[in-house]
Amino acid sequence: MALLVQKYGGTSVGSVERIEHVASKVAAARERGHRIVVVVSAMSGETDRLLKLAKSIDPRPDPRELDQLLATGEQVTIALLAMALEKRGVPARSYLGFQVPIHTDRAYGKARITRIETRNLLADCEAGAVPVVAGFQGVDEDGNLTTLGRGGSDTTGVALAAALKADECQIYTDVDGVYTTDPRVEPRARRLDRITFEEMLELASLGSKVLQIRSVEFAGKYKVPLRVLSTFQEGPGTLITLEERDVEEPLISGIAFNRDEAQLTVAGVPDRPGIAAAILGPIGEANIEVDMIVQNVGADGTTDFTFTVHRNDYERAMEISRKVAEDLQAKAVRSALDIVKVSLVGVGMRSHAGIAAKMFKTLASEGINIRMISTSEIKISVVIEDKYLELAVRALHKAFGLAGGGGA
Ligand code: ASP
Ligand code: MG
Repeated sequence: MALLVQKYGGTSVGSVERIEHVASKVAAARERGHRIVVVVSAMSGETDRLLKLAKSIDPRPDPRELDQLLATGEQVTIALLAMALEKRGVPARSYLGFQVPIHTDRAYGKARITRIETRNLLADCEAGAVPVVAGFQGVDEDGNLTTLGRGGSDTTGVALAAALKADECQIYTDVDGVYTTDPRVEPRARRLDRITFEEMLELASLGSKVLQIRSVEFAGKYKVPLRVLSTFQEGPGTLITLEERDVEEPLISGIAFNRDEAQLTVAGVPDRPGIAAAILGPIGEANIEVDMIVQNVGADGTTDFTFTVHRNDYERAMEISRKVAEDLQAKAVRSALDIVKVSLVGVGMRSHAGIAAKMFKTLASEGINIRMISTSEIKISVVIEDKYLELAVRALHKAFGLAGGGGA
C-alpha cells in the first residue's frame, strides 16, 4: 500500500465539474488501496483575480495583507474537493496551511517552508480519511499567513511528500508529461517516460511550464520521486527521479531553448589580467545575472569579451559596458538581440564523447552559424541567430533520435 501525495493544479480544479472529476480520481486511487494526501491550487485565474483586486487599491499592497488575500484562493478548492469526496463516501478533511501546520519563514510572497507537522495528516490516513491540503501557503512563527510564490502549490506537494516520506509525489496538470522539446516547435516531440532531477532542472525552459522549478530542486534534495501526469487523460506521465545507469539510456533527453537572452561584446580590450573582473564586476554589482561568457585573444593582442544577459537587463548591461569600455579603452561595445540559446540535455553525455561534435555538424549541415558555445557535464548550449530556432531544434531532434523509440 503506497502513500501518495497527489497535487492538482488550477486548471484541474478550475470548475465544479472538474473538482468532481478530481474527487473521482482520488476515490479511485484510494479504492486501489493507496493512502492519499491531496494538495490543491486555487481555481485557475483566481490568484490573478485576487492580485488584481489588491493592485486596484494599491499598486504595491502591504505584503502581509496581500498574502492574507491570496491565501483565500486555495481555501475554496480544498473545501469543495473535501465535500465532493464526502459525497462519494470517502471521508475527507480540508486543511489550510496553518491547520496542518506548514511552518515557513517570514518572507511574505516568497516564503520558504521550514517545517511541516505531519501528525494530523498521518492520523487521517490511518483512519482511512483523505486530507486535502491548501497549496501555496503556510504560517510564520507569529501566526501570520504566508505564501510561497506563484506556482507554489507544487512546492507544497513536494514538501509534504518529503515530510510524510511518501512513495511518490504526483503532480496532476493539463499536460501528460515532460516532452523531448516544445511540441509547438517540433510536432514530433515525444513524452519522456523518465528523466533525472538534474536534467529536469537543465530543461527548465521546457519544464517550468509544467512544474515550478523550485519544487524540482526540493524533490532532488530530498529524493522525492516526482511524477507529472494529466488530470484529463489516463497515462503514466513522466517520472522525475534519481539517475539510474542503464544501457538503454538515450544519450540526449531533450532540447531546450531560451529566447530571452541578449548578447553583448566588449571588443578590443587589452589582453591582461583583471579584464574579465573589470567587465563583469560592475555587471554583478548591478545585480545582473550573466549566463554565457566567451573570451578570445585576437592577433593584435587585444581580446573580445562576449557575454549574455536576460533581455530585461539588456539596457542596463549596455550602459555599464559602455562605461567600462571607456575606462578600459576598448574599441567598441556591440550587442545582438536577435539571438536564441539552444541546449541539448542528457545525463548520457557524461559517458559519451562526440556529442558536441555531432551537434555542431548537424547545425553546420543546415547552414546555421554558431555564435557562442558553453558546456556542462550534462548540457551543451549554443547561441544562434533567432530565425534558425525551429530549424535547429528540428534538425537536432532528428539527429539525436528523439522522435523515434529513443536512443541516438
Ligand atoms: N494559486 C497559486 C498561483 O496561482 C499557487 C499555485 O497555483 O500553485 O500561483
Ligand atoms: Mg501550477
